[in-house]
Amino acid sequence: MNLKRVRDHRRASPTSSASNSAMMLGVARTSALWLKYCLSLFAWAACTTGALATTTLPQSLIINSDQTLFLTDAPNGPRLTLLDRPDRLHFTNYAIENLPTAVKINGRDVSLHWHVISRSTDNTKHVVFVYESATPHLRLSWEWQARGDHGPVEHCITVQNLSGEEVWLPMVDSLRLQIPYESGQKLRHLYVEKGADTPSATGTHFEDISDGYSWTGKSSTYAFPQPGEAREIIPAEFVFDAEAPQSGWYAGIEFSGRTRISLHRTGNTVETVLGLNPEPGPFRTRLAPGEKFETPTVFLGTFTGGPDGAANQLHTWVRNVLGNPGTWRDPQYPLTVNNSWGGGMQVNEAIALRMIADAKQLGFEMFHVDAGWFRGVGDWYANPRKFPHGLAPIADAAHKQGMRFGLWVDWTQAGLDTQPGALNVRDPKVRDWLVTDLAPDWKPEEFKGETVDLGVPAAHDYLEKEVDRIITDNHLDMLEHDGYLVAQGCIRRDHPHAPPNQSTQKVIHDSGFDFVMADNATDVSYHAVRAYYDIYAKMRSEHPGLIFEVCNDGGRMVDFGSAAHADYFSITDTYDPLSNRRAFYDTSYMLPPAMLESYVEKWPTPNTDNFLYMLRSGLMGWFTIMIDTTAWTPEQHETAKIAIALYKERIRPLIRDAQLYHVSMRPDGVHWDGMQYWDPARKQGVLFAFRGTIDNEDNHTFVLSGLDTTKRYRLHCNDGSAPDRTAEGGELMMRGARVHLANPLSSELVFIEEAK
Ligand SMILES: [Zn+2]
Repeated sequence: MNLKRVRDHRRASPTSSASNSAMMLGVARTSALWLKYCLSLFAWAACTTGALATTTLPQSLIINSDQTLFLTDAPNGPRLTLLDRPDRLHFTNYAIENLPTAVKINGRDVSLHWHVISRSTDNTKHVVFVYESATPHLRLSWEWQARGDHGPVEHCITVQNLSGEEVWLPMVDSLRLQIPYESGQKLRHLYVEKGADTPSATGTHFEDISDGYSWTGKSSTYAFPQPGEAREIIPAEFVFDAEAPQSGWYAGIEFSGRTRISLHRTGNTVETVLGLNPEPGPFRTRLAPGEKFETPTVFLGTFTGGPDGAANQLHTWVRNVLGNPGTWRDPQYPLTVNNSWGGGMQVNEAIALRMIADAKQLGFEMFHVDAGWFRGVGDWYANPRKFPHGLAPIADAAHKQGMRFGLWVDWTQAGLDTQPGALNVRDPKVRDWLVTDLAPDWKPEEFKGETVDLGVPAAHDYLEKEVDRIITDNHLDMLEHDGYLVAQGCIRRDHPHAPPNQSTQKVIHDSGFDFVMADNATDVSYHAVRAYYDIYAKMRSEHPGLIFEVCNDGGRMVDFGSAAHADYFSITDTYDPLSNRRAFYDTSYMLPPAMLESYVEKWPTPNTDNFLYMLRSGLMGWFTIMIDTTAWTPEQHETAKIAIALYKERIRPLIRDAQLYHVSMRPDGVHWDGMQYWDPARKQGVLFAFRGTIDNEDNHTFVLSGLDTTKRYRLHCNDGSAPDRTAEGGELMMRGARVHLANPLSSELVFIEEAK
């Protein structure tokens, strides 16, 4: 589609006075008057938009407090024609929605001729245009929805096979935009990498969108960073004016399978396409009679205030629309967690019970058993040598202390164990679910095996029961999934996904796992992701209060689809203070801080300053400690206990509800860095300040955000690095707040409160 900025034209247009009046009167955006105004604007847009000028256009609107979308079913297909912001910034879209022009039936190309059957016009929260093709009989639904009063709106396309024969559908993109801008207008693009493996030196990308700009970002559940190749992104893009107030639009994908976003600028036109990744392709997917194909849902919204403006809007929207209401109602969310990986695979009953006692003493709210507890990969029963009484008594011991109990599991992986209940790769039933045939000498690694293709209905049904059993048998409050949950690429020809082109398929071995590079990779991931979502939705309904952690080999599956089906993410697989802060800096542009877990691992802490620096690098979002805390000194115990209590009392409410601001450059470990929370409702906030390694850099000034320029604020340094003081919001947001730290690799929490 093609969104055009028409702000300046609007000022001279006949409808601009209506627009001004509507805003001056403070008209509610959902009122009848507002609807009338929007319809008049639509008529105006239809007249002034060249591509639409000669047509009498049916019209539908999607309205929430942040934008209005104008939708039409012109003769050549459905379109989003205009995206309108309350601050008189408007984007017109020229792109035609890409309806499929042909399908394959029995190997033959059959052209499609779509005609509109129905379109909704009276519901400004949910619009569906329905099209049908007579031969073959297919139905296509083009759907837009505003589920939140604020934030983006969502869009998807569904194609259903109503014919009696099998139909092969080509790629249907989720969303296309083609947006003309004013001549020479300077635009910026922000996107962020996943923290998979370890955060890169860049992580957050701010790029100029100049003439000739061409970018493609990809996401999958694998995210294998290769030297010299672009890293995977969290699938979303922010596009905005380089000049203040940095207004613009953002779009993203709510799907964990193989997806891509492309963004190009030619002259004054910016084009973007979002959807499944067509490579290595050609993509095709099977529709048996009655079956549906659904494009990954995308979201589209507008914002002002630069990247933090977009980020804070997205945080609230993810919480309110994608998030699990039960999880967010839980006052302990995000929880403080003690994880057993400090002792690695050695965990056993005695260690677990000792850690639970210590965790209770330190104030943690959950004890989390990581890898090492099971009989073998795919054999997800407690190892009787380590846990002679099983795991349920360990869970019960945590519960008796008022803590919750969480468990690591690689539930889609199979191994070589032969005991009843084990998922064995040599079992003929299981062999048919695997993405490839394994060599006779294949062996799993210590905690990684071969992923089964969840998109196979029999595998889905088996694993749904298995996940339910693991939750029930072990009295779980939290289930963490690791390994590669979702397959991509598969050699099987009898699975629901498209068969591969055998002449180009390749099998690659990595860490106990054989994965397939083939032209069907995107379709395999499409089916497997739907199965993963289905199983988690079912577990949520059957186990109210259960929390899901998405680890997936440490930050490889951080996306908006998982955000809609699980509760928090392991955001990287590297756990030193700098990596934790870098991953948090990047990921917090996209997802709510409460969902972003930092695992804090053992790190050299010769003094208390360093110890607090290590803890606080993981205390900005979800805090999980991955150190054997029973080895801490009494002083470290006391320091951690105070830090955890402070987190629960003063920091967690801000992580849940406050606006977040990136008030420094991305952390490099050498210079200072910081993040600021500000909650306008509580009139409270906090600045996390970190000093890097430079010897003579004792002071740093952080320019704060989100405050009222005319109000006064009290600044309180938690560690006493400076006396309390008050300052005007204008000063703090122009000149900034100076922080003094005497030692490298130290930190401070500066609490900010509106002065009475
Ligand atoms: Zn398969």
